[in-house]
Amino acid sequence: MAVKVVEQAGFCFGVRRAMQLAQQAIVQHDRLYSLGPLIHNRQVVDSLAKDGLRVAADIGAVPDGGVAMVRAHGAGPEVYRQAQARGIQIIDATCPFVARVQREAAAFAQQGYQVLVLGEPDHPEPRAIVAHSGGQATIVESAHNWAEVELGPKVAVVAQTTQRLDNLQDLVAALLPAVSELRVANTICEATTKRQQASLALAREVDVMIVVGGYHSANTRRLAEICHDSGTLTYHVETADEIEPTWLAGVQNIGVTGGASTPQQATQQVAKRIREIAESEQEDYDDHQF
Ligand code: SF4
Repeated sequence: MAVKVVEQAGFCFGVRRAMQLAQQAIVQHDRLYSLGPLIHNRQVVDSLAKDGLRVAADIGAVPDGGVAMVRAHGAGPEVYRQAQARGIQIIDATCPFVARVQREAAAFAQQGYQVLVLGEPDHPEPRAIVAHSGGQATIVESAHNWAEVELGPKVAVVAQTTQRLDNLQDLVAALLPAVSELRVANTICEATTKRQQASLALAREVDVMIVVGGYHSANTRRLAEICHDSGTLTYHVETADEIEPTWLAGVQNIGVTGGASTPQQATQQVAKRIREIAESEQEDYDDHQF
């Protein structure tokens, strides 16, 4: 059995930066909180909690005078205002690519455009983008549900950084005939696009794909969706322990990829586990040969 791992697997730039800031802050501050889990990976968040990074549901849960980390997804302006008013020090791990979407959305709103954010309504990144546009933007999940939005004549579109490019293309194509002016900022981050393209290429080569990453991670779920849509049997796991030997029965080629918030080590452990299962099956097979 051949096991191939996508070269781009491992933390993306924004997650690596957030992790470095957290590790420095843990050493320097006692009352340290992240506003929501620092990244969407349970194992990493548990390990950071043991080192002293507590998770606060929101800025209201951080004590006055404490230290709060804004994660790579960013936060709305109100969070910074509250922190200042209550003497809370902010360590800002907003990914620069996410900050760019916030700026684009705010600029479009100031120029009088009706802003649509292609993204997941419950995800913190699009919600913070809406907040930066003065709360006027609308989150649209796909080209299929924009029709629920009453459109004005001037519309601008930005995208959550981890969106699929084909989703953005579909939305733009659907909106074009419906408005007199349409501005689009392709704010999908390059790391996301490259990882999605490499995972899709590998999915097309292999019999089974394993996607490693948090179940709450938007970009990992999207990778799983892309691999599945290629027609290849795809499994999404958080850890190597979840791999079932039955998934590998009779399989010649397996591909492994991981989300932007998945440590390289987790992806390697999955590849190692697959090889161990394949070897033990080969031994069983050999033992039964006459
Ligand atoms: S996926 Fe892209 S935008 Fe999101 S944190 Fe990583 S580098 Fe930044």
